[in-house]
Parts: sequence; structure tokens; C-alpha cells
Amino acid sequence: MGRNACGPKKPMEAGAFLIFPAVNPTRSSEVRALLEHLDFKPSRVLGQNFLVDANILRIMLDAAELSRTDAVLEIGPGLGVLTGPLAERAGRVVAIEKDDVLYEHLRTTFSDAPNLALIHSDALDVDLAGLLENGINKVVANLPYSVGTRVFVELCHAPARPERMIVTVQREVADRMIAKPGTKDYGVLSVFAQTDYAASLHKAVARTCFWPAPQIESAIVLLVKQRRAIAPKDPPAYRALVKRCFEQRRKQLGSLIRDHAAIVAIGADPKQRPETVPVGTWIELANKLA
Ligand code: SAM
Repeated sequence: MGRNACGPKKPMEAGAFLIFPAVNPTRSSEVRALLEHLDFKPSRVLGQNFLVDANILRIMLDAAELSRTDAVLEIGPGLGVLTGPLAERAGRVVAIEKDDVLYEHLRTTFSDAPNLALIHSDALDVDLAGLLENGINKVVANLPYSVGTRVFVELCHAPARPERMIVTVQREVADRMIAKPGTKDYGVLSVFAQTDYAASLHKAVARTCFWPAPQIESAIVLLVKQRRAIAPKDPPAYRALVKRCFEQRRKQLGSLIRDHAAIVAIGADPKQRPETVPVGTWIELANKLA
């Protein structure tokens, strides 16, 4: 993981994507000029903080390890700073944008990109599981703050979940995604993220890497799908158990689950609190109770 700062201001590499021939979308002055040209005022509610740092862009693209065999999902393409390079590198890109003006801008800007499908919708209203069934294998996105966690959890739970995800989220959310048992950040989001993924904090991202700068720091989280020795037999029941127990995270397992024999049978301690139970143990416990 690197330092908590935008990278050094290197020029974009040759062949890097430019939104208009004259606009480098990783330069904040040019992004501001473009927004003015579009007569567009970024909305805080929609988390419209645009990436204006070429180094962070490069780090996300490198982490995605893209090739023409990949099909990528981007949530919230905004001005298209990621979308362009994704379409240059991957075989297929699907990008979902809720904002009317940004969607129109993307549609015109990328009218010549045959491998890009733009969806004009709230990501929460899109059948993400269906998109994934259709061959999407990677997700690369600067997730909008307001819906980022919900969208992320939906992606993690999808039967055809992606092989690899590179998502920029609020630092506090990133810390929860990667948290280990026994730490203050370990909770439902950690368990859901780490059930099928090795999750790591790839790079801290300073507020100034975005325009307008958000009030909080962000971080890029890298998630690589992993195969566990055991999987939940009944995924909805597994999630319900984890959620229910973490609602009272300071209580002991023995008082949250009536079946003490099941707790003991999997080698857990009825006196353990949910916040100390590793992901594998949650899976075993749910399978035992099933
Ligand atoms: N990807 C761009 C970038 O990196 O500069 C923009 C990222 S910005 C943090 C989040 C984007 O998500 C904005 O374009 C915003 O309009 C869009 N957005 C917000 N809520 C959304 C939702 N529910 N569904 C789809 N897009 C959404």
C-alpha cells in the first residue's frame, strides 16, 4: 500500500484516453472547465467527486490486470475518466450512470466505442446479478458514496460474482471491508467481503485526488476471488445468521444461538463474541445450523 496522497503529477501515458481531444480528465482545471462547459454543478448527494489524478487512475487500471478477454462493470462512470481506458483495454465494458447530464455526456463522448454499453439508471435498480451472469468478470469503479456499500454487497452475493474487483470507497468503508476478527472495524461488511474474496487495502487516496474534494479520505480496495475449503450451503441463511449476530456484537455466541451443541461441534466457544469469529467459522456454524 502506498502513502496517503495522490501520486506524483506525471503526464498521462501515450495513448491514454482523452475525453475530448483537448481535455485531459485527470487535470482538475480541465475537469472544472468541462463541467462549466456542460453547465454542470456536481451533486453531493450523488457523490459526484471526479477523479483528477493520473497516478491513481494508473494504479486502478494496473490492479485490474485487464486484457481483451475481460468484461468489466463500472458503476458511476461520471465524466468517463476510467471508462475510456477500460474500453481501450478490456473486451467489453458495461457502465451504469444515474445522472441525466453525465449520461448524455458519456453517450456523445463514447459514441465511437463499440465495446461500451452505457446504462442510464440507478445502479440499485439494475439487475447486477443478471449482468454478471452475462459474462462480466471484473468490476472497476470509484463507487458513489451514497450507494457504494449496497452495490458492493450485492456484487459479493451474486452467484456469478466477479473474479476481481477494484473499488475506491471511503477510507472508513475500506477499513471495514478488509478488517480482521478481533478488530474494531470487523463486522458484517468484513464477513461478506471476505467470504469469497481476499480483500486488501491497495492504496490510500487523498481527498485532493478528486474534484470537488470530498470531505473524507478514500482508499482503493482490491478483491480477488478465492476458493475456500467450505462454502455456505444456504447463502441467504448464512447472511441472515451473520447479520443477526452482529446486531448484538458484544453478546456472546452462546446467548445469540440457542444450539450450543452446534457451536461446540465446530470448535467455537459459546463465550466468543461475534466480533472475534473468523469468516470460516461463520460458514461452518451456518452449515451446522442449516
Ligand atoms: N467514475 C468517475 C470518476 O472516477 O471520476 C465518477 C465517480 S463519482 C465518485 C460517482 C459517480 O456515480 C457519479 O458520476 C454519480 O453521478 C454516479 N452515481 C451516483 N449514484 C449513482 C447510482 N445510484 N447509480 C449509478 N450511478 C450513480
